[in-house]
Amino acid sequence: MGPIETSCSQAPLAADPLTLGEIVENGLCIGCGLCRSMAGRDVEMVMTPEGRERPMALRALDKPTLARINAVCPGTRIAGPPPAQMNDATLTDTVWGPVERLVLGRAADPMVRFVGSGGGTQTALGQFLLSSGRVKFVLHVAASQSMPMRTERQLSFDAASVLEGAGSRYGPAATLVDFNDVLDRGEPFALIAKPCDITAVRNLARLDPRVDERMRYALAFVCGGASDLTKSEQVLHRFGLREDELSLFRYRGHGNPGLNRIETEDGRAFEISYRQLWEDEDKWMIQPRCKICPDAIGHVADIAVSDAWLNGGPAVEDEPLNGIIVRTKRGLELFDAAVEAGALEIKRESNIAEISELQSHQVRKRRAVWARLTGMAIAGKPVPSVTGLALRDCAAQNSPAENLAEGRGARDRARRGRLGEPPAMPR
Ligand SMILES: Cc1cc2nc3c(=O)[nH]c(=O)nc-3n(C[C@H](O)[C@H](O)[C@H](O)COP(=O)(O)OP(=O)(O)OC[C@H]3O[C@@H](n4cnc5c(N)ncnc54)[C@H](O)[C@@H]3O)c2cc1C
Ligand code: SF4
Ligand code: SF4
Repeated sequence: MGPIETSCSQAPLAADPLTLGEIVENGLCIGCGLCRSMAGRDVEMVMTPEGRERPMALRALDKPTLARINAVCPGTRIAGPPPAQMNDATLTDTVWGPVERLVLGRAADPMVRFVGSGGGTQTALGQFLLSSGRVKFVLHVAASQSMPMRTERQLSFDAASVLEGAGSRYGPAATLVDFNDVLDRGEPFALIAKPCDITAVRNLARLDPRVDERMRYALAFVCGGASDLTKSEQVLHRFGLREDELSLFRYRGHGNPGLNRIETEDGRAFEISYRQLWEDEDKWMIQPRCKICPDAIGHVADIAVSDAWLNGGPAVEDEPLNGIIVRTKRGLELFDAAVEAGALEIKRESNIAEISELQSHQVRKRRAVWARLTGMAIAGKPVPSVTGLALRDCAAQNSPAENLAEGRGARDRARRGRLGEPPAMPR
């Protein structure tokens, strides 16, 4: 593996790539599915006993295939925006990266902002991308029709289908599981996804020119981490339910944040609040890769959308609202056009100080990741190659004692195997 951080975004294919097993067992995989899409039938995505979607190689992959996978996998390679974008940005912040505009806003359509996770901004943008003819379809995710607690990748060709995918899906989501087929369609599209999904696709763009040709926009949400499916299963246990009884499993949305609502085929309904869902941090079951995530705030997206709650938590039910971080010129053109067309509504301008207060956990994480990765490397574990994300500069905002504590903690956890995972196998 490469150094923990350099400023160069072009890296050669690794001479000694990690196997899929090594990526998974070292806690670097987030289950995006891109390796499955690249390796075809040789790799299968499985739901593990821990409740994570993971790739399993059905036969040994050759070195060139592994080298290509290591070059795109968001567990082995994480690059920030291209230097030109950083230099040209209206504003560049050490923690928050490039910013063209920062506002609080939401979908203008009351239905979209009600159904959406926060203020429905991403859904409104997805719908506007289609109605304005900028793209032919949107790649995102939605609840599985047959197993509604699970999440599947979705291609939306119309506004109703984009709305179907609205809401946050906290469990595993292999957004890129057939990304190669998506590219093969030969049509312009937009991706709405987690920052790590966008990292993966930006990595692929360095190997496959079709990505930049066809993926016209990438919209991220600011991400606190993806939980295991076992987190969702805990909610079922609370009500004595089985997964095969369900007709609906909505994590949030239908309000901001809205309730975690479960419905069964025989007409029963169960609800818990967002606060109840996340009240006990020991039971968040956030995947290992998220704990060392260098970019959970979508540096590499055209627009990143967040919640707008102080310190990351809702009061009770809040007005529909999002933080909207426009990051690229392309994103700015889209944002302005969406406001002009009446798809988005601006509440007011925001700024770095405010978003840092709203997302204080993200600021803490950005400052901690360099030390965490260093601690893992000292423990002899592979770490991702991270470029262009100012991790060292973020760490410099911590005191040496804080960095030492983060680094030692990660080193010790890594030595005890606490940052790794069991080998991928189906349940
Ligand atoms: C796992 C997770 C962690 C999050 N952590 C934070 C956080 O720490 N801070 C914060 O401010 N916001 C966080 N959010 C984002 C927040 O919940 C909202 O999704 C975001 O503010 C966008 O709101 P919206 O109303 O515009 O979304 P919507 O209009 O409802 O659109 C959401 C879009 O995201 C897509 N999507 C949902 N879940 C996934 C998934 N798992 N993988 C890929 N795509 C998905 C949907 O398909 C949909 O297109 C998180 C979301 C998720 C799913
Ligand atoms: S993060 Fe994505 S590309 Fe990397 S191993 Fe996991 S599923 Fe494959
Ligand atoms: S925290 Fe990072 S790795 Fe985890 S799901 Fe979010 S963007 Fe992906």
